[in-house]
Amino acid sequence: MKLTRIMCLTASMLVAITAKSQQPASLAPKDRPTETKVVLLGTGTPVPDPDHSGPATAIVVGNTAYLVDFGPGVVRRAESAALNKNIPAVQPRNLKVAFVTHLHSDHTAGYSDLILTGWTSGRAVPLEVYGPPGLQWMTEHILQAYRIDIETRTNPDSPIRDIGRFPDAWQVNAHEIKAGVIYKDEKVTVTAFATKHAMESYGYRFETPDRTIVISGDTNPVEATINACNGCDVLIHEAQPLEMQAKMPKSVQSVVAKYHTTTEQLAELANKAKPKLLVIYHTITFPPGIAPPRLLPPNAGADALYVSPEMLQKEIGSRYSGKFVIGKDLDVY
Ligand SMILES: [Zn+2]
Ligand SMILES: [Zn+2]
Repeated sequence: MKLTRIMCLTASMLVAITAKSQQPASLAPKDRPTETKVVLLGTGTPVPDPDHSGPATAIVVGNTAYLVDFGPGVVRRAESAALNKNIPAVQPRNLKVAFVTHLHSDHTAGYSDLILTGWTSGRAVPLEVYGPPGLQWMTEHILQAYRIDIETRTNPDSPIRDIGRFPDAWQVNAHEIKAGVIYKDEKVTVTAFATKHAMESYGYRFETPDRTIVISGDTNPVEATINACNGCDVLIHEAQPLEMQAKMPKSVQSVVAKYHTTTEQLAELANKAKPKLLVIYHTITFPPGIAPPRLLPPNAGADALYVSPEMLQKEIGSRYSGKFVIGKDLDVY
């Protein structure tokens, strides 16, 4: 049995395939087919904070969702947004197209869940995923790791085979990208731009009929983000608090200095990018009791590395006068 179905597509093939996979335009007026929403499914970091799932953001255009990153918790948060925020487009079975900013585990640990739970809960088509080189390798190995599960659910003799699943929808088409336009259908054009992180990484610009949305992923401040936004409707950007940085070991401080963005740097960037709304996410903070002891300063209290939303608000607000919010899981903008 062939467990991977990974394809590199030319732009024209890609448009043909994505167009074919769209649902017919038979929407009720209430569905407002071009209205765009940003749904924050996970606003966290590698820290296992129960209130902040791993990074995952859905750009929802009418009844279609486009996922950016699939950190741990993505599938449960997606179901929660579908049920509690009345956004059926993000129901796990409806998540069919995803983009990943980079391959760090906090952005990808939900990948197997997205592939397999999406399938077992009714996704009708293979998942289409776009991201940096290494994505195909990761995809192939996840599918190999779940070989027994997939074979059991697809074997014609298996008693659990025919329980409402689409037999081929466990498959994944993983598309490795470079900067430029990487995806286009009748609702959205997605452009990738190179960012600066500890590995090859991309930010994404989504142009929909009513909004332009830019998401940074993890990155040092880069000019490309400013150019991609340039007055965009929503800029979703990471930020690391100065106050906590000062308390971290030097080794962590240098990682942040090289590969992330401080609140001060983000304020400077946003002043140039001029988004109508800045959404801050992926802020490293350790709620009391969660910080690994080796990171805590000597004799520090358990909350020494906790940054409250109020502190973050103050650090940004004192340097940036545009509209901004500290993103929380399940916020919708
Ligand atoms: Zn991250
Ligand atoms: Zn990262």
